[in-house]
Amino acid sequence: MGEPYAFFKGQYMPLKDAKIGILTQALHYGTACFGGIRGNWDAERQHLCLFRMKDHYRRQLDACKILNISLPYDENDLAEITVETVKRSGFKENIYCRPLAYKASEAIGVKLHGLEDDFFVIATTLGPYLGTGGIKCCTSSWRRVSDSQISPRGKITGIYVNSALAKTDANRAGFDEAIMLNENGHVSEGSGENIFAVLKGQLITPAPYDSILLGITRDTVMQLAKNELGIDTIERSIDRSELYVAEEAFFTGTATNVASIISVDHRPIGTGQPGPLTTKLQNLFSEVALGRNPKYSDWYTFVKPA
Ligand code: PMP
Repeated sequence: MGEPYAFFKGQYMPLKDAKIGILTQALHYGTACFGGIRGNWDAERQHLCLFRMKDHYRRQLDACKILNISLPYDENDLAEITVETVKRSGFKENIYCRPLAYKASEAIGVKLHGLEDDFFVIATTLGPYLGTGGIKCCTSSWRRVSDSQISPRGKITGIYVNSALAKTDANRAGFDEAIMLNENGHVSEGSGENIFAVLKGQLITPAPYDSILLGITRDTVMQLAKNELGIDTIERSIDRSELYVAEEAFFTGTATNVASIISVDHRPIGTGQPGPLTTKLQNLFSEVALGRNPKYSDWYTFVKPA
């Protein structure tokens, strides 16, 4: 039941009808920025919960600024467009919305100025991104881009070549995911996830200056750890070998949710099984992301499929 749907060139249409020209500038030069918003299906209440949608759009509009993309929409307009797209898709299962703001001119030439900008959003389905078991990781030989190259603060499409190089190497070597170090050799993040570790009982995560994307799931987990468990998260640089001796480690991300890391570079993390704090945070996150905790109602947009 349901069909992938798009808002494209100002209109709502089935995804299969949304096409762009092959000379579109963003396709050639990576001059676009995207988002990823999950809609979690609550079968009991028969609605979808779009999770922290406006926060996702705020971050995307910041990336638009960096890319010199101006859209005729603010985050409220983008949220309304997304709700309508989701309604029309008719899905009654977990969905994923993929908005993209891009340099839409069909023109040859590397630049950001003097080009048309456009925006689309797609509503489709997406299962668990990294699976539901424990994740086996390696440290990538590719370094995460820094702010002096391309800003890691936005989900700028060109950056994802960096992530894809790391991910494919990791998968071909038999690992589930890559952990990228930044230019200084500190742990930055996964190819599409933020990373946390529990070290000597403390919850730690790389700081914003370690070339990370400021993940919304990262922020959610930090708030849940603080409000629900009374645990402060320490944001600081993390060495690669600190991960080897951590009691627990996990990834966070919209596609991934909260996923336990069970080994890094063939060293088991803790017991080699998902750790107790990871499991607690996973459970708290699932409940909150389903729209079930009224304390966090600001994070929810409920949608009844058409
Ligand atoms: N880092 C990168 C590079 C990502 O692509 C993502 C996924 N959007 C994340 C971290 C996690 O961010 P969020 O929790 O906002 O999805």
